[in-house]
Amino acid sequence: MQKQTALQLEGVSHVYVNSSGAYLALEHIGFSVNRGEFVSLIGPSGCGKTTLLSLISGLLVPTSGTVRVLGETIGQPTPRVGYMLQQDYLFPWRTIYENASIGLELMGRLDSAGKELVLELLSDMGLSQFADRYPHQLSGGMRQRVALVRTLATEPDILLLDEPFSALDYQTKLQLEDLVAVTLLSRRKTAVLVTHDITEAIAMSDRIVVLQPNPGRILASVDIPPQIRQALPLKAREAAGFHDLFHRLWGYFEQMDNEGGETR
Ligand code: ADP
Ligand code: MG
Repeated sequence: MQKQTALQLEGVSHVYVNSSGAYLALEHIGFSVNRGEFVSLIGPSGCGKTTLLSLISGLLVPTSGTVRVLGETIGQPTPRVGYMLQQDYLFPWRTIYENASIGLELMGRLDSAGKELVLELLSDMGLSQFADRYPHQLSGGMRQRVALVRTLATEPDILLLDEPFSALDYQTKLQLEDLVAVTLLSRRKTAVLVTHDITEAIAMSDRIVVLQPNPGRILASVDIPPQIRQALPLKAREAAGFHDLFHRLWGYFEQMDNEGGETR
């Protein structure tokens, strides 16, 4: 079966220009992600991870190079790409259901099928009985699940996840990793995750792209072996080869440290 390319970046560079000058944040980034694939981006703070997601979402236009989503060049935000952030940005005056359905509402697509999908997603996330509650009545992990429902409800082909678990306590984070993995797998979503947690990247991904800073470039691309890929994130941490992979990736960070890159 031929694999379909969901996302393709070619020769992508990005320069930020402001009153203090110009800064080359990303240089000559090229990689592609197949449909249904889960790719993580890791690298020290400031290496351009968020910039890269902004380029993929169409919020930024690259200074040079192209970003293609399902074959089409992206130059502005598109419903094909959904973006989930570390903060949930739920509106406090809206109920959980009203927050989860806001994307569809703004797109004029909150018809009976849309409403049904929101309720189904809330149920998948174990949130059915909280639909009429308000965000302040929910825990951090539950709020992130609402944010995920809101992102999935508009049915994007590609999901961008910028450190979505990093504000959560460890146990909640591990539980949410499994839930997100199951949800994306069953819905065959393509995902790009940014994380500073190497174990999370190994446990969740099919492939990891390591970025180095100043300017942001690809240092390495690491395929995750099948026995880790096929296990859910929590179990994957116990799979053969996990620790070797951790040390290999840790080695890249040490290498960048020694070369004088910034670290967090
Ligand atoms: P990361 O997400 O990996 O921490 P970012 O993509 O946020 O990195 O930033 C990459 C680099 O670009 C950093 O050096 C940052 O200071 C710089 N940068 C980010 N946003 C802007 C901006 N709006 N204007 C100027 N420089 C920026
Ligand atoms: Mg960032």
